[in-house]
Amino acid sequence: MEQTDQVPSDRDELLNEILARIELEKWFGADLYPIRPDNGETQHTPAEPAAADSDEMAVVESPNEKQAQLDELFEAMKTCHQCQFGDTRTKLVFGEGNPDARLMFVGEAPGADEDRQGRPFVGRAGQLLTRMIEAMGLQREDVYIGNILKCRPPNNRTPTPAEMTPCLPYILKQIEIIEPEIICGLGAVALKGLLRDPSVSIGRIRGAFIDWHGVRLMPTYHPAYLLRSPQQKKVVWEDLQAILRELGLEPPPRRGS
Ligand code: SF4
Repeated sequence: MEQTDQVPSDRDELLNEILARIELEKWFGADLYPIRPDNGETQHTPAEPAAADSDEMAVVESPNEKQAQLDELFEAMKTCHQCQFGDTRTKLVFGEGNPDARLMFVGEAPGADEDRQGRPFVGRAGQLLTRMIEAMGLQREDVYIGNILKCRPPNNRTPTPAEMTPCLPYILKQIEIIEPEIICGLGAVALKGLLRDPSVSIGRIRGAFIDWHGVRLMPTYHPAYLLRSPQQKKVVWEDLQAILRELGLEPPPRRGS
């Protein structure tokens, strides 16, 4: 990185924090987690004025503040070339949606359509994800959608867990900012990345919540897999209904797939 005589900006400090985390992982095998205290159930806390005399005033970020932090993160990493995928991408795919989302979907990596448009889940699999979200009675704008890898692997090949490592701090930072109550992990590769476990079998773990550093993590199949195996839509719908119940929302009646 170039050295300047200028006082470091917030963006520089954020980038430095991320790079330090990457170095920790690279050199010491340090665990990037926890991203927050592991205190079990996480509640979506409405903003309330903190008591003036409280020594430990809870910091509740407004959606605008969260969006500003996401914008700052994007500015800090939009020219990232931490790994080889930065050399072959067309557009970096940061993620999009509600900065204050209660539910966040995390996939593995952008595909060809996403690489062209710079937006997550906009190809055929993305259109199916949109329909899945709408079937839940929600809109894409209600949730946040992102991937572990921000740049497309050439020919859409599956990234290895080691290849996902340099990019992990970005999704962790996004989760830290958004503070979702529930993350829906889409597909085996994303789950291997989030759980830091290359032996994960999506068929074994899908459908049951995992307490992941204070966030409820629901593993389910990737929409791209559902395009190839539409008979699995039924179990994914069950997973989505479980998410709605966990959020205290009523699953709408199913209108067919
Ligand atoms: S995939 Fe992630 S780590 Fe690699 S260049 Fe893109 S943003 Fe950087």
